Amino acid sequence: MPKRKTPPQKKADYIGRFAPSPSGDLHLGSLTCALASYLDARKNHGNWLVRIEDIDPPREQKGATQSILSCIKAHGLNWDGDILYQSQRSSTYHQTLKALTDEQFSYPCTCNRKRIANLSPSNCYDGHCKTHSPKLNAPASIRLDLVRSAKKITVASLNISFYDLIQGEFSEDLGQTGDFVIHRKDGLFAYQLAVVVDDIHQGITHIVRGDDLLDCTPKQIFLTQLLKGKQATYAHIPVVNDDRGLKLSKQNHATAANPEHAHENILLCLKHLGLKPNSNNTTQNIPDLLQWATEHWNLNKLSNKGA
Ligand code: GLU
Ligand code: ZN
Repeated sequence: MPKRKTPPQKKADYIGRFAPSPSGDLHLGSLTCALASYLDARKNHGNWLVRIEDIDPPREQKGATQSILSCIKAHGLNWDGDILYQSQRSSTYHQTLKALTDEQFSYPCTCNRKRIANLSPSNCYDGHCKTHSPKLNAPASIRLDLVRSAKKITVASLNISFYDLIQGEFSEDLGQTGDFVIHRKDGLFAYQLAVVVDDIHQGITHIVRGDDLLDCTPKQIFLTQLLKGKQATYAHIPVVNDDRGLKLSKQNHATAANPEHAHENILLCLKHLGLKPNSNNTTQNIPDLLQWATEHWNLNKLSNKGA
């Protein structure tokens, strides 16, 4: 058996992460995302962190956190440092929310579902509650006031562009999507707020995740600037499709990645990521397979640029 190389000295200038929400077991799609972010971190001699995004109890599935963590472990994806649980970070999110409110970068919104559903263009919040006082005693969400915030960070426009290592140049005019929610009507913190606060807190430099989150990225970049964080480098990998062309997700009942078939699962994920090892001695056990994959990892193979 070939001797495994000792890991090179880790550089703190690369910190990656995998940040699953415990809304169900890992399926091959989410496992592919975990593997991609792991391989990219290892290839760059970086740290790879795991953060459990458990801030949405209604969507949480009992036991999912433990099942996700043991699944990651069974697939040989060993993380660095301690796991960060978002459920333990409320006071920090509160502080951030308070700071944004104190600076008048946010406002309460009492619009109901029906009003929001009927907005035109659809999905673009029209800023109604910014100019009308919110209904008294009605449950309110909190929205980020993009125009006021933009003045503070002196961005010339709400059109946010960034270069994605896989997707190439991507831009979105936040003016077309409107002031987004940072604290939900049901009292829970919004994903956009928590993810940005924690990416800054953990010093994340590289975010490798599924391209289903590409649309969220301009919002997160904007919020990162507002909170004086350093913008990460992004790589959004094409999400796994099943035969019907559907995203493999919990919503469409993708089957859980069975830890007993970890080696086979990794091979399937690697295939999706454009890597196909020869079936020889060097890739027969999981650590060797991951070592091989790290050596052969190349984001360019996934490039959608110019597509
Ligand atoms: N927790 C999010 C999810 O599971 C992913 C967050 C992220 O990678 O930014 O969809
Ligand atoms: Zn409103």
